[in-house]
Amino acid sequence: MQDLLDSVVDGCREEWQAGRTATYIPELAKARADAVGASVFDLSSGGCSSGDFDYRFTMQSVSKVLSLSLALSVCGEDEVFSRVGMDPLADSFNSIMRLEMDAPHRPHNPLINSGAIVVLSLLPYRDAEERFAAVSDMASRMTGNRSMSVNEAVFRSERDTAARNRSLAWFLKSVGNLDGDVDDILDTYFRQCSLEADCRDLAVLGATLAADGMNPVTGEQVVPPRVAEITRAIMATCGMYNGSGEFAVTVGIPAKSGVGGGISAAVRGRMGIGTCGPALDGKGNSVAGMRILQRLSEELRLRIY
Ligand code: GLN
Repeated sequence: MQDLLDSVVDGCREEWQAGRTATYIPELAKARADAVGASVFDLSSGGCSSGDFDYRFTMQSVSKVLSLSLALSVCGEDEVFSRVGMDPLADSFNSIMRLEMDAPHRPHNPLINSGAIVVLSLLPYRDAEERFAAVSDMASRMTGNRSMSVNEAVFRSERDTAARNRSLAWFLKSVGNLDGDVDDILDTYFRQCSLEADCRDLAVLGATLAADGMNPVTGEQVVPPRVAEITRAIMATCGMYNGSGEFAVTVGIPAKSGVGGGISAAVRGRMGIGTCGPALDGKGNSVAGMRILQRLSEELRLRIY
């Protein structure tokens, strides 16, 4: 596996040149555009890593997998899906158009920004601090990394420039689909997006989902099998936003991307894969990361379809 991973990552090294780092969150523009790395956690043989696998980036939308799993565990699937849909969306992850046009005004799925914000609002915690503590605990248990922390510079940068996400949240509030304090909920959202990780963390996160919710490093059953199953299904259909259909055809495995450059992928019963590459395509997905996943999927026959 190590030789294969080295050759795949090596072969994808220059792919980053076709992408650009996110700039709408000013701090993300400072990411190393040419960082490219990957880590695999195989459920039978363990982990291996290659390239810039220890490069640290913020989870951004990969964190939506954590809050979704948490909400499904704590609130149950009926409550979650009474407030957000489970269908892919052909518009960008922060689009406001559909939300206003559709009635009821329910986000299409839990992995676009509006959906993730609604998911956080369902969590039955007292305030932003308690809510974030629960999300952060889920992050540690899913990744097996007990020392995950928030990148404060990225957190502040997003919080202070988040006109679009604030618009989404206040629109949801105006139509009665966001309970609780809007600023508190957004605070948790920006914090979870700013959790720092590396490829190994995202590989173990994927492996936990691949093992039906049991973290293969710590042995802990973090979420029930049904929660892992739903999360993988939503990743497969919506995890790469409006690039999810093309990704299903070219790569064919459940995965979740983030504008920090990470992707976490879960192949049930086999492995989790984490990739990093902060240079993104126009839909906000890591160009090198997707290419690495495509090559690994071909070489290891990982397609689920
Ligand atoms: N924090 C980012 C945002 O809300 C997450 C988006 C993403 O990773 N696609 O815009």
